[in-house]
Formats: sequence, C-alpha cells, structure tokens
Amino acid sequence: MRWISSVPARIVTPGSRLRSLLPALLLALLLPLLLPLLPLLLPLQSPLLTAAFAAEPASQGAAAVTVSLQPIQVAPHSWYVQGLPGMVSMQNQGFNANAGFVITREGVVVFDALGTPGLGAALLREIRQRTSLPIRRVIVSHYHADHFYGLQAFKQAGAEILAHRRVQGYLAGDGPRTRLAERQQSLAPWVPRDMPLLAPDRYLDRDESFTLGGLQFQVRHIGPAHTAEDLMLLVKEDGVAFVGDLIFTGRVPFVGDADSRAWLAAIDRILVDRPAVLVPGHGPASRDPQADLVLTRDYLLQLRKVMGDAVRDFVPVDEAVKGADWSRFAALPAFEAAHRINAYGTYLQMEREALAAPR
Ligand SMILES: [Zn+2]
Repeated sequence: MRWISSVPARIVTPGSRLRSLLPALLLALLLPLLLPLLPLLLPLQSPLLTAAFAAEPASQGAAAVTVSLQPIQVAPHSWYVQGLPGMVSMQNQGFNANAGFVITREGVVVFDALGTPGLGAALLREIRQRTSLPIRRVIVSHYHADHFYGLQAFKQAGAEILAHRRVQGYLAGDGPRTRLAERQQSLAPWVPRDMPLLAPDRYLDRDESFTLGGLQFQVRHIGPAHTAEDLMLLVKEDGVAFVGDLIFTGRVPFVGDADSRAWLAAIDRILVDRPAVLVPGHGPASRDPQADLVLTRDYLLQLRKVMGDAVRDFVPVDEAVKGADWSRFAALPAFEAAHRINAYGTYLQMEREALAAPR
C-alpha cells in the first residue's frame, strides 16, 4: 500500500481480489469463535475484517445520491445517461459525465461507470428497472475519475471490466492516487476515504469484436487522443457509437495534458462507420456526428495555433489566452474552468513539440 497526502489508496486488480477472498473464507470458518470478540476487533480495522466486509457497497458511509440519472433511449437497444453541465462540483455530486448501456436479449453491455461509487450504483438501479438480465461487460472508455469511479457496483453484479492495455501504466503511476485524494476533498460526501480504485479484469491489446444477444459490438482503440487509452464502442445494428471523451458536445473539451496532435489525427477514425448516433463522454447525444465533431476539432486547432504561436514568439501563456478571440467557445459550459487548464497543457505540449522538431 502506498500513501499520498496520508490518504490510503488501494488499487484492486483481479489477482488481489482473489487473494482478498482467502481471509474472508478463513473468517467464515472462524466466525463462530470470533463473534463474541467482534466489538473489540472492529476499531483495529484489520485486513481480515476489511476483507470480510468488502462485499458491502463502497457507497456505504457515503452521502445519498440525489441527482437524477434519467436514461435516454437513442436506438432500439441503446441508452445513455447525460451528466450535468460543467466540471465536477458539489452541486452536480460528481455527475458530469455520461455513461451508456445496451440491453440485448442475452445480457447488458455497459459503457463507462460514472464518477462516484454511488452514481455507479444508481446507474445499475436504472438498468435494473429495464431488465433483470445479467450485466456482462463494462467497457471503460478511459481511466479519468468521472468515468470509472462507479465501477464497483458493476463488479459486484458480476460484470467483466474491460479497458485498454495503456491503463496499466497509468494505474502504476502516482496520477490515480493524486486524483483520488483530490476527489476525496472536492466530492467528500460521495467519494469515501477507503474507496478502492478498480483495475480492469482484462486489458485489451487490440480492437475486439463480439456478438451478444444477436447484436454485433466493436471495441476500438482510438487513442492516444484525449488519453493514451481511449476506447470507443460501436453497436452495429443500432448505428450507435459510444465515444467517451474523444468528442465533446455542448461544452468545452477537457484537453489538460492530452496529446492534441495525436487527438486531431485520430478524430476522423471515429466516424469511419458513419454511426447515426454518437454518444459523447459529456454533453447530449449527437444525431449529426460529423457536425458535432467539428466543435472538438476546431477548439483543438485554435488552441494549438494560439499556444504554438505563443511558444514561438516567447509570449507568456496568460497573455496569449487574453490576446486571442475565443468567442465561439466562451459561452459553452465549463469554459471558465477548463479553458485555462487546457491552455497551459497545450502550451507545454507545443513547447515539447517545438523542442522535438528538427532544426
Ligand atoms: Zn476524460
């Protein structure tokens, strides 16, 4: 176990999950003997007891989720819930990202799991109101907190969690723990201090197609773009593409430290199958994917142009932001919060590109 800002973070991999079951089995055998001692043992928080109670939902002890998810059906089998506008906040309770699900006659495929354990559980409840069929798979578009902190409910429901191999490197670094510590502050009522970070059950090294309940699914690796690991899910018969944060509609894209050059190079591959409906990671579903792709693309292009010029002319980043015309994007939700971070990230990216360019 590693510690950051004295906040413990554990990453639960399938292997560690199995190992964690062993103490639980032992405990089950010894329980009749230990039961009278339980009140004495509880404050010690031994690994044994943590394992024994690991079956409890992670949202235990977290505040109730009161935001409403309201799934929207976009095709015969495909649904999504639309996160509230803007960045993660106490007001939206961390519900600012979308998640999708596809109900086939043999089970359910879920795309992304929302941004807190409670939101993941709420999403599962919404699915359960529409079908009692098993949740077969959860495809995680990318490992940003607002898309995977709700995984635990689906793991407990028996789903297989899939993400791209590049997530493995991300989980091995300090990024996930730093982000968790931040969310435990900014979303304190809903992100418990002992929340585990769930690793995928299986990493994808290449694109994967599968059939379930008569529907054909394609999982495609589009990254590096918004992140190194971006996956999209195409539901062929429904003509629906779930694309995570590869495309933003109705708000300013979050660029952060993304490789915007690779992102622009990848963006056209999203529409090769001409999906009729595109469900982005944030914002409303698009029935005109080509037009909506333009917002993300144009924002990236302008950001790179302004920051690239600034790097070349030694103009400080703040000055460059102020000196450019952003009126096309300024009225969009999340502009205030995201744009500055995007500008700084892109400035650094353009510096790296300038240094790497042949002279
Ligand atoms: Zn993201």
